[in-house]
Amino acid sequence: MAFKGLKWLIGVGLFMSILTGICSAEGFKTVEVWKNLFTVVNGDGIDSNTTFLITSEGVVVIDTRVTPQEAGKVLAEIRKRTDLPILYTINTHYHGDHTFGNQIFKDSRAIIAHENVRKSLMGSSGKDHLDFFKTMNIPGMDETIITPPNMIFKEKMEIFVGGYNLKLIHVRGHTDGDLFIYIKQLRTLITGDLVFNGKIPYMGDAYVEEWISALTYLGDLDAEIYIPGHGEPGGKPVFLAMQHYMLQLKGMVLKQLENGKSLKETQDAVRPALMEKYKSWKNHKWIDSNIERVYLEYSLKQGS
Ligand SMILES: [Zn+2]
Repeated sequence: MAFKGLKWLIGVGLFMSILTGICSAEGFKTVEVWKNLFTVVNGDGIDSNTTFLITSEGVVVIDTRVTPQEAGKVLAEIRKRTDLPILYTINTHYHGDHTFGNQIFKDSRAIIAHENVRKSLMGSSGKDHLDFFKTMNIPGMDETIITPPNMIFKEKMEIFVGGYNLKLIHVRGHTDGDLFIYIKQLRTLITGDLVFNGKIPYMGDAYVEEWISALTYLGDLDAEIYIPGHGEPGGKPVFLAMQHYMLQLKGMVLKQLENGKSLKETQDAVRPALMEKYKSWKNHKWIDSNIERVYLEYSLKQGS
């Protein structure tokens, strides 16, 4: 009996370690991008990235993931490396998978974003957005208290901290309140969801033409490292692949539009081509809605 009990205990222990193994192997990992610059990448589920920069004065956090629980894991990763205070938290756009962990960083000097991010997260639009995320069965979602940015800007803002200069630049593209961050001395761009790596982008509230222009703008900056909103950080090819996707999508849909095709005909023609071309990318479920977004935007343009 005792033996059986012991065996059971060992069994439970094994099971627990497998479970912990799964939890830590759910894709969650911290990549050291440069000295002092880290990105927490999560391969499964909601896989939005958080980046943090450790300076001699304190820490800057970029995006806070989808729940306080997930944000807490990021804070633990920061605390493994430094006891310095979190000085600034930045949201690259309003989407919950980038902002619903904000409350964990509410004691930073400021939570910074474009003014439209604050607008989207305040009042009923913020509540609707959280309610939408609550339908996704994400563990810990109920603990989110919407914590909108408390420092906003319109076009550009710069932060000088601990020897670093971060340029925060607003563009429209993925949403109406995107910002990207350029750290020239590290030749690094933190793109938010203007760039996805190896994944079809989400375009639910996108401005396609402006997104393409934004990518041209980013492409002109001298950078070596691109930290996307989703997927692993990488070099120029990561950026170029995203730019190609947007141009291909636009080109294919425009061709159908010019031939007077309906939305459904356009989807039927473009979907297989994109699926084949981007077969190694995740999120194929978004291809149809991507085509729709482009179709609607450019049919409006043609109509005007
Ligand atoms: Zn997003």
